[in-house]
Amino acid sequence: MTTTDTARTVRAARGSERTAKSWGAEAAKRMLMNNLDPEVAEHPEDLVVYGGTGKAARSWEAFDAIVRTLDELEPDETLLVQSGKPVGVFRTHEWAPRVLIANSNLVGDWATWPEFRKLEQLGLTMYGQMTAGSWIYIGTQGILQGTYETFAAVAGSLGRDDLSGTLTLTGGAGGMGGAQPLAVTLNGGAVLIVDVDESRLARRVEHGYLDEYTTDLDAALARVVAAKAAGKALSVGVVGNAAEVFGDVLARHRAGELTVDIVTDQTSAHDPLAYLPVGIAFEDWKAEASRDPEGFTARARGSMAKHVAAMVGFQDAGAEVFDYGNSIRAEAQLGGFDRAFEFPGFVPAYIRPQFAEGRGPFRWVALSGDPEDIRKTDEAVKALFPDNAGLVRWLDKAGDAVHFEGLPARICWLGYQERHLAGLKFNEMVASGELSGPIVIGRDHLDSGSVASPYRETEAMADGSDAIADWPLLNALLNTASGAAWVSIHHGGGVGIGRSIHAGQVTVADGTALAAEKLERVLTNDPGTGVMRHVDAGYDRAKEVARERGLQVPMLDA
Ligand code: NAD
Repeated sequence: MTTTDTARTVRAARGSERTAKSWGAEAAKRMLMNNLDPEVAEHPEDLVVYGGTGKAARSWEAFDAIVRTLDELEPDETLLVQSGKPVGVFRTHEWAPRVLIANSNLVGDWATWPEFRKLEQLGLTMYGQMTAGSWIYIGTQGILQGTYETFAAVAGSLGRDDLSGTLTLTGGAGGMGGAQPLAVTLNGGAVLIVDVDESRLARRVEHGYLDEYTTDLDAALARVVAAKAAGKALSVGVVGNAAEVFGDVLARHRAGELTVDIVTDQTSAHDPLAYLPVGIAFEDWKAEASRDPEGFTARARGSMAKHVAAMVGFQDAGAEVFDYGNSIRAEAQLGGFDRAFEFPGFVPAYIRPQFAEGRGPFRWVALSGDPEDIRKTDEAVKALFPDNAGLVRWLDKAGDAVHFEGLPARICWLGYQERHLAGLKFNEMVASGELSGPIVIGRDHLDSGSVASPYRETEAMADGSDAIADWPLLNALLNTASGAAWVSIHHGGGVGIGRSIHAGQVTVADGTALAAEKLERVLTNDPGTGVMRHVDAGYDRAKEVARERGLQVPMLDA
């Protein structure tokens, strides 16, 4: 472990020796620290991992107390973490999670940003986003395959095999949004990505997610237009405010100077204080947001109204336009733009059929720190699912293109009755010594059975159950009962306070027989709740999956 009080530079320990008393506690500690590794976190000095202000711990004091407690935790004890602060240790049993986490939860009528900020200022809560406060963020790679698959689906909906010969316009090159340029180029397309923060674009270039960036919009457009014409894959970043740049590019599109084929956005619109309004200088952002949060929010929403008006303008002009899970339509509507919901969210547009099969972003991390362990697990997953051509293609591409940030990790989308096979295989590989250390296995909260989020994962459910939040709570309870190493329940991730409830789970393959039993249950049951939720909502594919793969749903045929 390397943390220091002065520099506060955090980096997880590597290797197969642990200082905690169980691998569950050691894994939780290393993953908390990995979330805050400067290679991984967007603003580690503020404990901010990604997603605007998504934090891993409430304060440095709380961080130190969590690390200390995890080191002392007995293998039959459970640490409780309340919005980033360790609040209690209880005697449980070996099958129980080592950590239970609740982040940002508020009672319904109080679930607003102003109330949240008031409580945050009093030191009573923190914003956990999704995997920031649940210690399973793995850098920009964590969203890369999902973004890659989404853009592949966009190509399909345009009647194309891939994105070559197309131009995509998007915003936000942060922790998650930064996956967009590489996802587009892996699909063969040209893309222009706009961010107000030059350092974010530079970081994406440094990590291989973006080919190049400039401060000159004309130059950037010339590069992507030429790439589109040549059918070449190229990603170019431009420093600018998306609320202005989108309108500017739309005017050129309308004038026939260029054609944009696809438009989306991943600025941190879900949190109006994390979206820079037009007219406020980048250098004044933080000071202005804390000086007058309400006034700043109104200005941010006004800019988002312009931003989304340009997106609707592109749709009117024939482009494929979708909301990429940042709540920008709802914020633009609050900013006075009443056509904001005229383009769809990406889940109903492209992803829901995958959720009906319990498919979602499965991820794993090598605690050894050895990239060779990930290479071996890639090969093992390919050997387990040789007929899944998309998966094999993805793992080959990821092996070549993904720069590891922090502990080496991998993501791939697997579904019900698939994930446990990978987990059990990894556990065998740890037991046999083929891998040089345990593997942590988790997922995003953005998954098929773990989230209620009416502007994103559960938008436009077939039965109208978009806002029913029992499902993620059942998911968390079941994962707790099934043997996960840590389980979390959050509010407000992805789309902002008041708009989502979601749950996370992480298991650890440490090579023991007990781990195998836990992995088998957790990695079967967790995606099983996704199939169950979509059966209940009436999706035929989910019903077929339940029948074919033996999921018990008492009222399946009712
Ligand atoms: P982040 O905070 O790391 O990055 C946001 C970026 O937006 C920053 O680089 C910031 O400089 C930039 N930005 C802010 N205002 C801007 C403006 N007016 N013009 C141009 N750039 C601006 O956040 P992130 O983790 O990348 O997430 C971005 C958004 O995407 C969030 O709302 C998040 O919830 C959402 N998200 C979506 C998915 C998905 O699968 N669709 C997954 C994760 C996150």
